[in-house]
Amino acid sequence: MSDRGNDAVLRHVHVLITGGGFAGLGLAIRLKQQGDTDFLVLEQGDDVGGTWRDNTYPGAACDVPSQLYSYSFALNPEWTRSFSTQPQIQRYIRDVAERYGVRDKFVFGCEVTGARWDAEAAHWEVETSRGRFTADIAISAAGPLSQPKLPDIKGIHAYQGEIFHSARWDHDADLTGKRVAVIGTGASGIQIVPAIAPEVAQVQVYQRTAPWVLPRVTHAYTLLERLAFKHIPGLQRLVRALIYANRELFVIAQSKYTPAVALFEFIARVKMWLEIRDPALRKQVTPDYRLGCKRMLISNDYYPALTRDNVELITDGIEEIRERSIVAADGTEREVDAIVLATGFRIADSPTFDLYSGKDGRTLSEVFDAEGLQVYKGSTVAGFPNAFVMLGANSALSYTSAIYTIESQINYVADAVATMAKRGLRTVEVRADAQLAYNRELQEKFVGSVWLTGGCTSWFLDKRGTNVALWPDFSFRFRRMLKTFDVDAYDTTPREAA
Ligand code: NAP
Repeated sequence: MSDRGNDAVLRHVHVLITGGGFAGLGLAIRLKQQGDTDFLVLEQGDDVGGTWRDNTYPGAACDVPSQLYSYSFALNPEWTRSFSTQPQIQRYIRDVAERYGVRDKFVFGCEVTGARWDAEAAHWEVETSRGRFTADIAISAAGPLSQPKLPDIKGIHAYQGEIFHSARWDHDADLTGKRVAVIGTGASGIQIVPAIAPEVAQVQVYQRTAPWVLPRVTHAYTLLERLAFKHIPGLQRLVRALIYANRELFVIAQSKYTPAVALFEFIARVKMWLEIRDPALRKQVTPDYRLGCKRMLISNDYYPALTRDNVELITDGIEEIRERSIVAADGTEREVDAIVLATGFRIADSPTFDLYSGKDGRTLSEVFDAEGLQVYKGSTVAGFPNAFVMLGANSALSYTSAIYTIESQINYVADAVATMAKRGLRTVEVRADAQLAYNRELQEKFVGSVWLTGGCTSWFLDKRGTNVALWPDFSFRFRRMLKTFDVDAYDTTPREAA
Protein backbone atom coordinates (compact mmCIF):
# COMPACT_ATOMS: atom_id res chain seq x y z
CA MET A 1 0.00 0.00 0.00
CA SER A 2 2.71 2.45 0.97
CA ASP A 3 4.07 2.69 -2.56
CA ARG A 4 0.77 3.40 -4.26
CA GLY A 5 0.42 6.42 -6.49
CA ASN A 6 -2.06 9.18 -5.87
CA ASP A 7 -4.97 7.16 -7.23
CA ALA A 8 -8.50 7.08 -5.86
CA VAL A 9 -9.15 3.73 -4.22
CA LEU A 10 -11.94 2.14 -2.34
CA ARG A 11 -10.73 -0.40 0.12
CA HIS A 12 -12.47 -1.93 3.09
CA VAL A 13 -10.52 -2.91 6.18
CA HIS A 14 -11.69 -4.12 9.56
CA VAL A 15 -9.73 -1.47 11.50
CA LEU A 16 -8.53 1.85 10.13
CA ILE A 17 -6.10 3.85 12.24
CA THR A 18 -5.37 7.51 11.49
CA GLY A 19 -1.93 8.70 12.56
CA GLY A 20 1.40 6.93 12.75
CA GLY A 21 2.99 8.40 15.86
CA PHE A 22 3.66 6.54 19.08
CA ALA A 23 -0.07 5.74 19.49
CA GLY A 24 -0.87 4.57 15.96
CA LEU A 25 2.33 2.56 15.71
CA GLY A 26 1.90 0.92 19.10
CA LEU A 27 -1.66 -0.02 18.29
CA ALA A 28 -0.62 -1.45 14.91
CA ILE A 29 1.97 -3.64 16.64
CA ARG A 30 -0.55 -4.90 19.20
CA LEU A 31 -3.23 -5.67 16.61
CA LYS A 32 -0.70 -7.64 14.60
CA GLN A 33 0.44 -9.49 17.71
CA GLN A 34 -3.11 -10.51 18.60
CA GLY A 35 -3.71 -11.80 15.07
CA ASP A 36 -5.86 -8.92 13.76
CA THR A 37 -4.08 -8.29 10.51
CA ASP A 38 -6.92 -6.67 8.55
CA PHE A 39 -5.98 -3.08 9.35
CA LEU A 40 -4.22 -0.06 7.88
CA VAL A 41 -2.63 3.06 9.32
CA LEU A 42 -3.23 6.26 7.35
CA GLU A 43 -0.43 8.74 7.88
CA GLN A 44 -0.40 12.21 6.38
CA GLY A 45 3.39 12.51 6.63
CA ASP A 46 6.00 10.48 4.84
CA ASP A 47 7.31 8.59 7.85
CA VAL A 48 6.27 7.19 11.22
CA GLY A 49 6.86 9.36 14.30
CA GLY A 50 4.00 11.86 14.48
CA THR A 51 4.90 14.82 16.65
CA TRP A 52 8.48 13.54 16.97
CA ARG A 53 8.83 13.49 13.19
CA ASP A 54 7.38 17.00 12.91
CA ASN A 55 9.10 18.83 15.76
CA THR A 56 12.61 19.21 14.37
CA TYR A 57 13.28 22.65 15.85
CA PRO A 58 16.77 23.31 17.24
CA GLY A 59 17.06 21.96 20.78
CA ALA A 60 13.99 19.69 20.55
CA ALA A 61 14.21 17.11 23.32
CA CYS A 62 11.96 15.24 25.69
CA ASP A 63 11.14 16.28 29.26
CA VAL A 64 10.47 12.70 30.33
CA PRO A 65 13.39 10.34 30.96
CA SER A 66 14.08 8.07 27.98
CA GLN A 67 13.93 4.92 30.09
CA LEU A 68 10.25 5.74 30.61
CA TYR A 69 9.63 7.49 27.30
CA SER A 70 9.72 4.29 25.28
CA TYR A 71 7.41 1.32 24.75
CA SER A 72 7.42 -1.21 27.60
CA PHE A 73 7.74 -3.97 25.01
CA ALA A 74 10.71 -2.34 23.27
CA LEU A 75 13.11 -1.04 25.89
CA ASN A 76 16.18 0.58 24.41
CA PRO A 77 19.46 -0.09 26.26
CA GLU A 78 21.26 2.25 23.85
CA TRP A 79 19.88 5.56 25.12
CA THR A 80 22.95 7.74 25.57
CA ARG A 81 21.42 10.29 27.93
CA SER A 82 18.69 10.30 30.56
CA PHE A 83 16.66 12.75 28.40
CA SER A 84 16.73 12.06 24.68
CA THR A 85 16.77 14.52 21.83
CA GLN A 86 14.25 14.53 18.98
CA PRO A 87 16.55 12.79 16.45
CA GLN A 88 17.23 9.96 18.94
CA ILE A 89 13.53 9.47 19.65
CA GLN A 90 12.62 9.58 15.97
CA ARG A 91 15.31 6.95 15.24
CA TYR A 92 13.87 4.78 18.01
CA ILE A 93 10.32 5.01 16.60
CA ARG A 94 11.52 4.13 13.10
CA ASP A 95 13.54 1.23 14.43
CA VAL A 96 10.54 -0.16 16.36
CA ALA A 97 8.35 0.08 13.22
CA GLU A 98 10.96 -1.93 11.28
CA ARG A 99 11.62 -4.48 14.01
CA TYR A 100 7.96 -5.27 14.54
CA GLY A 101 7.31 -5.52 10.81
CA VAL A 102 4.33 -3.18 10.54
CA ARG A 103 5.60 -0.58 8.07
CA ASP A 104 3.76 -2.30 5.23
CA LYS A 105 0.51 -1.51 7.04
CA PHE A 106 1.12 2.23 6.68
CA VAL A 107 -0.28 4.38 3.87
CA PHE A 108 2.01 7.40 3.87
CA GLY A 109 1.13 10.78 2.39
CA CYS A 110 -2.51 10.01 3.11
CA GLU A 111 -4.42 12.79 4.83
CA VAL A 112 -7.86 12.06 6.22
CA THR A 113 -10.25 14.79 5.07
CA GLY A 114 -13.50 13.43 6.47
CA ALA A 115 -15.08 10.39 8.12
CA ARG A 116 -18.78 9.59 8.27
CA TRP A 117 -20.61 6.83 10.11
CA ASP A 118 -22.88 4.90 7.74
CA ALA A 119 -25.48 3.42 10.07
CA GLU A 120 -27.02 1.12 7.49
CA ALA A 121 -23.76 -0.46 6.44
CA ALA A 122 -22.45 -0.14 10.02
CA HIS A 123 -19.11 1.11 8.90
CA TRP A 124 -17.04 4.29 8.65
CA GLU A 125 -16.59 5.96 5.29
CA VAL A 126 -13.28 7.72 5.36
CA GLU A 127 -12.31 10.27 2.70
CA THR A 128 -8.61 10.84 2.23
CA SER A 129 -6.22 12.64 -0.06
CA ARG A 130 -5.55 9.22 -1.61
CA GLY A 131 -9.08 8.00 -2.06
CA ARG A 132 -11.91 6.56 -0.04
CA PHE A 133 -11.69 3.81 2.54
CA THR A 134 -14.35 2.05 4.54
CA ALA A 135 -13.75 0.42 7.91
CA ASP A 136 -15.75 -1.43 10.54
CA ILE A 137 -13.78 0.33 13.25
CA ALA A 138 -12.12 3.77 12.99
CA ILE A 139 -9.42 4.82 15.41
CA SER A 140 -8.09 8.36 15.55
CA ALA A 141 -4.48 8.39 16.68
CA ALA A 142 -3.86 11.86 15.25
CA GLY A 143 -2.65 13.06 18.64
CA PRO A 144 -3.24 16.30 20.53
CA LEU A 145 0.06 17.83 19.39
CA SER A 146 -0.45 17.57 15.65
CA GLN A 147 -2.23 20.83 14.81
CA PRO A 148 -0.14 24.00 15.31
CA LYS A 149 -1.88 26.94 16.93
CA LEU A 150 -1.13 30.14 15.04
CA PRO A 151 -1.61 33.37 17.00
CA ASP A 152 -4.14 35.89 15.82
CA ILE A 153 -1.93 38.96 16.15
CA LYS A 154 -2.81 42.16 14.31
CA GLY A 155 -0.77 42.49 11.09
CA ILE A 156 0.80 39.02 11.24
CA HIS A 157 -0.15 38.27 7.64
CA ALA A 158 1.59 41.41 6.41
CA TYR A 159 4.94 40.30 7.81
CA GLN A 160 7.54 40.04 5.02
CA GLY A 161 10.36 38.08 6.72
CA GLU A 162 10.65 34.37 7.46
CA ILE A 163 7.86 33.17 9.73
CA PHE A 164 7.08 29.61 10.79
CA HIS A 165 5.69 27.55 13.66
CA SER A 166 8.04 25.59 15.94
CA ALA A 167 6.46 22.31 14.77
CA ARG A 168 7.02 23.25 11.10
CA TRP A 169 10.61 24.47 11.39
CA ASP A 170 11.85 25.82 8.07
CA HIS A 171 15.32 24.31 7.75
CA ASP A 172 15.90 26.25 4.53
CA ALA A 173 15.70 29.49 6.47
CA ASP A 174 19.23 30.38 7.53
CA LEU A 175 18.94 32.28 10.81
CA THR A 176 22.68 32.78 11.23
CA GLY A 177 23.41 36.41 12.06
CA LYS A 178 19.73 37.38 11.87
CA ARG A 179 17.43 39.13 14.33
CA VAL A 180 14.94 36.49 15.40
CA ALA A 181 11.76 36.83 17.46
CA VAL A 182 10.51 33.81 19.39
CA ILE A 183 6.86 34.17 20.39
CA GLY A 184 5.92 31.84 23.23
CA THR A 185 7.78 30.53 26.27
CA GLY A 186 6.27 27.06 26.68
CA ALA A 187 8.15 23.76 26.44
CA SER A 188 9.09 24.43 22.79
CA GLY A 189 10.04 28.11 23.17
CA ILE A 190 12.38 27.58 26.10
CA GLN A 191 14.26 24.90 24.16
CA ILE A 192 14.54 27.00 20.99
CA VAL A 193 15.90 30.16 22.64
CA PRO A 194 19.14 28.66 24.06
CA ALA A 195 19.65 26.54 20.94
CA ILE A 196 19.59 29.44 18.49
CA ALA A 197 21.00 32.25 20.66
CA PRO A 198 24.68 31.49 19.93
CA GLU A 199 24.07 31.47 16.15
CA VAL A 200 21.88 34.49 15.59
CA ALA A 201 22.52 38.22 15.94
CA GLN A 202 19.68 38.80 18.35
CA VAL A 203 16.80 36.92 19.95
CA GLN A 204 13.70 38.81 21.02
CA VAL A 205 11.75 36.52 23.36
CA TYR A 206 8.08 37.49 23.58
CA GLN A 207 6.70 36.09 26.82
CA ARG A 208 2.99 36.34 27.58
CA THR A 209 3.05 34.27 30.77
CA ALA A 210 6.20 33.32 32.67
CA PRO A 211 6.66 29.55 32.98
CA TRP A 212 7.83 27.78 36.12
CA VAL A 213 11.17 26.16 35.28
CA LEU A 214 12.73 23.36 37.32
CA PRO A 215 16.23 21.90 36.94
CA ARG A 216 16.76 19.22 34.29
CA VAL A 217 18.61 16.54 36.24
CA THR A 218 20.42 14.94 33.38
CA HIS A 219 22.86 12.10 33.15
CA ALA A 220 24.95 10.65 30.31
CA TYR A 221 24.87 6.85 30.34
CA THR A 222 28.34 5.33 30.33
CA LEU A 223 29.20 2.38 28.11
CA LEU A 224 29.25 0.23 31.21
CA GLU A 225 25.72 1.26 32.15
CA ARG A 226 24.48 0.58 28.63
CA LEU A 227 26.11 -2.84 28.63
CA ALA A 228 24.56 -3.55 32.01
CA PHE A 229 21.10 -2.58 30.69
CA LYS A 230 21.63 -4.92 27.78
CA HIS A 231 23.02 -7.94 29.58
CA ILE A 232 21.76 -7.93 33.18
CA PRO A 233 18.25 -9.34 33.08
CA GLY A 234 15.67 -7.07 34.68
CA LEU A 235 18.05 -4.18 35.42
CA GLN A 236 16.62 -1.78 32.88
CA ARG A 237 13.08 -2.65 33.94
CA LEU A 238 13.99 -1.97 37.54
CA VAL A 239 15.46 1.44 36.67
CA ARG A 240 12.38 2.20 34.59
CA ALA A 241 10.11 1.23 37.49
CA LEU A 242 12.02 3.49 39.88
CA ILE A 243 11.79 6.43 37.48
CA TYR A 244 8.08 5.72 37.01
CA ALA A 245 7.45 5.67 40.77
CA ASN A 246 9.38 8.90 41.22
CA ARG A 247 7.35 10.69 38.53
CA GLU A 248 4.09 9.60 40.15
CA LEU A 249 4.97 11.78 43.14
CA PHE A 250 4.32 14.81 40.93
CA VAL A 251 0.60 13.98 41.06
CA ILE A 252 0.67 14.83 44.71
CA ALA A 253 2.33 18.15 43.96
CA GLN A 254 -0.30 19.00 41.38
CA SER A 255 -3.38 18.07 43.29
CA LYS A 256 -4.56 19.63 46.52
CA TYR A 257 -1.46 19.26 48.67
CA THR A 258 -0.09 22.79 48.56
CA PRO A 259 2.99 22.13 50.76
CA ALA A 260 4.36 19.99 47.92
CA VAL A 261 3.60 22.74 45.41
CA ALA A 262 5.37 25.21 47.70
CA LEU A 263 8.44 22.97 47.87
CA PHE A 264 8.75 22.82 44.08
CA GLU A 265 8.19 26.58 43.87
CA PHE A 266 11.01 27.09 46.35
CA ILE A 267 13.36 24.95 44.22
CA ALA A 268 12.36 26.90 41.10
CA ARG A 269 12.96 30.24 42.85
CA VAL A 270 16.40 29.18 44.06
CA LYS A 271 17.25 28.14 40.52
CA MET A 272 16.03 31.52 39.21
CA TRP A 273 18.11 33.31 41.82
CA LEU A 274 21.25 31.28 41.00
CA GLU A 275 20.97 31.64 37.24
CA ILE A 276 19.73 35.23 36.92
CA ARG A 277 21.59 37.92 38.81
CA ASP A 278 19.67 40.89 37.35
CA PRO A 279 16.69 41.55 39.71
CA ALA A 280 14.65 43.19 36.92
CA LEU A 281 15.00 40.16 34.65
CA ARG A 282 14.31 37.85 37.59
CA LYS A 283 11.10 39.76 38.25
CA GLN A 284 10.08 39.38 34.62
CA VAL A 285 10.51 35.59 34.67
CA THR A 286 8.79 35.10 38.03
CA PRO A 287 5.38 33.49 37.49
CA ASP A 288 2.33 35.03 39.15
CA TYR A 289 0.44 31.76 39.55
CA ARG A 290 1.01 28.51 41.42
CA LEU A 291 3.48 25.99 40.05
CA GLY A 292 1.76 23.10 38.30
CA CYS A 293 -1.20 25.19 37.16
CA LYS A 294 0.39 25.20 33.70
CA ARG A 295 2.68 22.40 32.58
CA MET A 296 5.91 22.91 34.52
CA LEU A 297 9.07 22.97 32.47
CA ILE A 298 12.60 21.75 32.98
CA SER A 299 15.72 23.39 31.59
CA ASN A 300 19.28 24.15 32.57
CA ASP A 301 20.04 26.53 29.73
CA TYR A 302 16.96 28.72 29.32
CA TYR A 303 17.65 31.26 32.09
CA PRO A 304 21.38 31.48 31.23
CA ALA A 305 20.36 32.16 27.60
CA LEU A 306 18.13 35.03 28.75
CA THR A 307 21.13 36.67 30.40
CA ARG A 308 23.11 36.78 27.12
CA ASP A 309 23.78 40.20 25.60
CA ASN A 310 22.03 39.27 22.37
CA VAL A 311 18.83 38.04 24.05
CA GLU A 312 16.03 40.34 25.17
CA LEU A 313 12.95 39.23 27.11
CA ILE A 314 9.88 41.27 26.21
CA THR A 315 6.92 40.95 28.53
CA ASP A 316 4.81 43.92 27.47
CA GLY A 317 2.73 41.90 25.03
CA ILE A 318 2.53 42.32 21.27
CA GLU A 319 0.44 45.14 19.87
CA GLU A 320 1.06 44.56 16.20
CA ILE A 321 3.32 42.90 13.66
CA ARG A 322 4.42 45.06 10.73
CA GLU A 323 6.20 44.17 7.48
CA ARG A 324 9.63 43.96 9.12
CA SER A 325 9.05 44.58 12.81
CA ILE A 326 7.10 43.80 15.95
CA VAL A 327 5.49 46.55 18.01
CA ALA A 328 5.15 45.80 21.72
CA ALA A 329 2.20 47.01 23.76
CA ASP A 330 4.37 49.81 25.27
CA GLY A 331 4.85 51.17 21.74
CA THR A 332 8.46 49.99 21.25
CA GLU A 333 9.04 48.83 17.69
CA ARG A 334 11.78 46.23 17.12
CA GLU A 335 12.99 45.24 13.67
CA VAL A 336 13.12 41.52 13.11
CA ASP A 337 14.31 39.27 10.22
CA ALA A 338 12.48 36.09 11.26
CA ILE A 339 9.67 35.08 13.60
CA VAL A 340 9.34 31.69 15.26
CA LEU A 341 5.85 30.95 16.53
CA ALA A 342 6.34 28.68 19.54
CA THR A 343 2.67 29.15 20.32
CA GLY A 344 1.59 25.58 20.93
CA PHE A 345 -1.12 23.38 19.51
CA ARG A 346 -4.88 23.35 19.01
CA ILE A 347 -5.83 20.85 21.66
CA ALA A 348 -9.31 21.66 22.98
CA ASP A 349 -10.45 22.88 19.54
CA SER A 350 -8.50 20.53 17.29
CA PRO A 351 -9.50 20.80 13.61
CA THR A 352 -9.49 16.98 13.56
CA PHE A 353 -12.80 17.22 15.48
CA ASP A 354 -14.38 18.65 12.33
CA LEU A 355 -13.53 15.51 10.38
CA TYR A 356 -15.67 12.90 12.16
CA SER A 357 -19.47 12.88 11.72
CA GLY A 358 -21.36 10.52 14.01
CA LYS A 359 -24.67 8.75 13.73
CA ASP A 360 -26.83 11.89 13.93
CA GLY A 361 -24.70 13.63 11.31
CA ARG A 362 -23.09 16.05 13.75
CA THR A 363 -19.31 16.39 13.79
CA LEU A 364 -17.29 15.88 16.94
CA SER A 365 -16.74 19.67 17.01
CA GLU A 366 -20.47 20.29 16.97
CA VAL A 367 -21.08 17.75 19.72
CA PHE A 368 -18.25 19.12 21.86
CA ASP A 369 -19.42 22.71 21.28
CA ALA A 370 -22.92 21.86 22.40
CA GLU A 371 -22.18 19.45 25.22
CA GLY A 372 -18.60 20.14 26.27
CA LEU A 373 -15.54 18.11 25.46
CA GLN A 374 -16.63 14.84 27.02
CA VAL A 375 -14.97 11.57 26.16
CA TYR A 376 -15.49 8.25 27.93
CA LYS A 377 -12.26 7.03 29.52
CA GLY A 378 -10.34 9.20 27.06
CA SER A 379 -11.30 6.74 24.34
CA THR A 380 -14.90 6.81 23.05
CA VAL A 381 -17.75 9.28 22.48
CA ALA A 382 -21.52 8.64 22.60
CA GLY A 383 -23.04 8.95 19.13
CA PHE A 384 -19.86 7.71 17.43
CA PRO A 385 -20.18 3.92 17.19
CA ASN A 386 -17.14 1.75 16.50
CA ALA A 387 -14.85 4.76 16.88
CA PHE A 388 -11.97 5.18 19.29
CA VAL A 389 -9.62 8.05 19.97
CA MET A 390 -6.11 7.70 21.30
CA LEU A 391 -5.02 10.35 23.81
CA GLY A 392 -8.53 11.75 23.86
CA ALA A 393 -9.84 14.27 26.39
CA ASN A 394 -8.63 13.93 29.99
CA SER A 395 -6.01 11.34 29.24
CA ALA A 396 -2.90 13.54 29.19
CA LEU A 397 -0.38 13.29 32.02
CA SER A 398 1.67 16.39 32.49
CA TYR A 399 4.25 14.77 34.76
CA THR A 400 5.02 11.40 33.24
CA SER A 401 5.31 9.55 29.97
CA ALA A 402 2.58 9.83 27.33
CA ILE A 403 3.71 6.38 26.18
CA TYR A 404 2.37 4.98 29.45
CA THR A 405 -1.06 6.48 28.67
CA ILE A 406 -0.87 5.24 25.10
CA GLU A 407 -0.11 1.69 26.19
CA SER A 408 -3.01 1.81 28.66
CA GLN A 409 -5.31 2.80 25.81
CA ILE A 410 -3.84 0.18 23.51
CA ASN A 411 -4.93 -2.44 26.08
CA TYR A 412 -8.46 -1.04 26.00
CA VAL A 413 -8.86 -0.61 22.24
CA ALA A 414 -7.22 -3.93 21.36
CA ASP A 415 -9.47 -5.66 23.88
CA ALA A 416 -12.49 -3.88 22.35
CA VAL A 417 -11.56 -5.22 18.91
CA ALA A 418 -11.10 -8.72 20.37
CA THR A 419 -14.34 -8.52 22.40
CA MET A 420 -16.33 -7.51 19.34
CA ALA A 421 -14.97 -10.51 17.45
CA LYS A 422 -15.48 -12.92 20.35
CA ARG A 423 -19.05 -11.84 21.07
CA GLY A 424 -20.02 -11.39 17.43
CA LEU A 425 -20.76 -7.69 17.85
CA ARG A 426 -21.41 -5.54 14.85
CA THR A 427 -21.38 -2.22 16.70
CA VAL A 428 -20.39 -0.86 20.08
CA GLU A 429 -21.30 2.65 21.18
CA VAL A 430 -20.68 4.07 24.61
CA ARG A 431 -23.94 4.84 26.42
CA ALA A 432 -24.57 8.56 26.97
CA ASP A 433 -25.40 7.96 30.66
CA ALA A 434 -22.15 6.06 31.21
CA GLN A 435 -20.20 8.86 29.56
CA LEU A 436 -21.97 11.51 31.62
CA ALA A 437 -21.46 9.68 34.92
CA TYR A 438 -17.80 9.06 34.11
CA ASN A 439 -17.17 12.71 33.30
CA ARG A 440 -19.05 13.96 36.38
CA GLU A 441 -16.90 11.83 38.62
CA LEU A 442 -13.75 12.83 36.75
CA GLN A 443 -14.46 16.55 37.00
CA GLU A 444 -15.07 16.25 40.74
CA LYS A 445 -11.43 15.23 41.11
CA PHE A 446 -10.34 18.60 39.75
CA VAL A 447 -12.17 20.61 42.40
CA GLY A 448 -9.58 22.43 44.48
CA SER A 449 -6.66 21.22 42.35
CA VAL A 450 -3.85 23.55 41.33
CA TRP A 451 -5.00 23.24 37.68
CA LEU A 452 -8.24 25.09 38.49
CA THR A 453 -7.25 27.20 41.48
CA GLY A 454 -3.63 28.04 40.65
CA GLY A 455 -4.47 31.38 39.03
CA CYS A 456 -3.55 30.70 35.41
CA THR A 457 -5.06 29.87 32.06
CA SER A 458 -3.56 26.93 30.21
CA TRP A 459 -4.13 24.58 27.31
CA PHE A 460 -5.46 22.13 29.88
CA LEU A 461 -8.69 24.19 30.02
CA ASP A 462 -11.34 24.71 27.36
CA LYS A 463 -13.22 27.94 26.80
CA ARG A 464 -15.65 26.99 29.60
CA GLY A 465 -12.72 26.72 32.02
CA THR A 466 -13.13 22.94 32.32
CA ASN A 467 -9.97 20.88 32.44
CA VAL A 468 -10.43 18.75 29.32
CA ALA A 469 -6.83 17.65 28.89
CA LEU A 470 -5.52 15.99 32.01
CA TRP A 471 -6.05 12.75 33.83
CA PRO A 472 -6.31 14.03 37.41
CA ASP A 473 -4.99 11.00 39.25
CA PHE A 474 -2.13 8.52 39.44
CA SER A 475 -1.36 7.05 36.03
CA PHE A 476 -1.55 3.48 37.35
CA ARG A 477 -5.24 4.09 38.06
CA PHE A 478 -5.72 5.05 34.42
CA ARG A 479 -3.93 1.83 33.45
CA ARG A 480 -6.17 -0.21 35.76
CA MET A 481 -9.33 1.49 34.43
CA LEU A 482 -8.44 0.58 30.84
CA LYS A 483 -7.18 -2.93 31.51
CA THR A 484 -10.14 -4.50 29.72
CA PHE A 485 -12.92 -3.26 27.50
CA ASP A 486 -16.02 -2.70 29.70
CA VAL A 487 -18.62 -3.72 27.15
CA ASP A 488 -21.40 -3.22 29.74
CA ALA A 489 -21.01 0.54 29.36
CA TYR A 490 -21.80 0.23 25.66
CA ASP A 491 -24.89 -0.23 23.52
CA THR A 492 -24.18 -3.11 21.19
CA THR A 493 -25.76 -4.73 18.15
CA PRO A 494 -25.06 -8.31 17.13
CA ARG A 495 -23.59 -9.31 13.82
CA GLU A 496 -26.60 -11.52 12.97
CA ALA A 497 -28.78 -8.38 12.87
CA ALA A 498 -26.96 -7.48 9.66
P1 NAP B 1 2.54 25.63 24.84
O1 NAP B 1 3.01 24.93 26.03
O2 NAP B 1 1.08 25.70 24.58
O3 NAP B 1 3.16 27.09 24.88
C1 NAP B 1 2.76 28.06 23.97
C2 NAP B 1 3.41 29.37 24.35
O4 NAP B 1 3.01 30.35 23.40
C3 NAP B 1 2.96 29.88 25.71
O5 NAP B 1 4.03 30.54 26.31
C4 NAP B 1 1.84 30.85 25.34
O6 NAP B 1 1.62 31.85 26.30
C5 NAP B 1 2.40 31.44 24.08
N1 NAP B 1 1.38 32.00 23.21
C6 NAP B 1 0.34 31.34 22.64
N2 NAP B 1 -0.39 32.19 21.90
C7 NAP B 1 0.19 33.41 22.02
C8 NAP B 1 -0.09 34.70 21.51
N3 NAP B 1 -1.16 34.91 20.73
N4 NAP B 1 0.71 35.72 21.86
C9 NAP B 1 1.77 35.50 22.66
N5 NAP B 1 2.10 34.32 23.18
C10 NAP B 1 1.32 33.29 22.86
O7 NAP B 1 3.18 25.02 23.49
P2 NAP B 1 4.55 24.24 23.31
O8 NAP B 1 5.64 24.93 23.99
O9 NAP B 1 4.70 23.92 21.86
O10 NAP B 1 4.28 22.91 24.08
C11 NAP B 1 3.08 22.17 23.85
C12 NAP B 1 3.16 20.83 24.50
O11 NAP B 1 4.01 20.03 23.73
C13 NAP B 1 3.80 20.82 25.87
O12 NAP B 1 2.95 21.16 26.90
C14 NAP B 1 4.29 19.41 25.94
O13 NAP B 1 3.23 18.55 26.26
C15 NAP B 1 4.75 19.18 24.54
N6 NAP B 1 6.18 19.48 24.38
C16 NAP B 1 7.06 18.80 25.15
C17 NAP B 1 8.39 19.08 25.04
C18 NAP B 1 9.35 18.38 25.91
O14 NAP B 1 9.09 17.30 26.36
N7 NAP B 1 10.45 19.02 26.19
C19 NAP B 1 8.85 20.04 24.17
C20 NAP B 1 7.93 20.71 23.39
C21 NAP B 1 6.60 20.42 23.50
P3 NAP B 1 0.56 31.62 27.51
O15 NAP B 1 1.28 30.74 28.48
O16 NAP B 1 0.28 32.96 28.01
O17 NAP B 1 -0.65 30.95 26.92
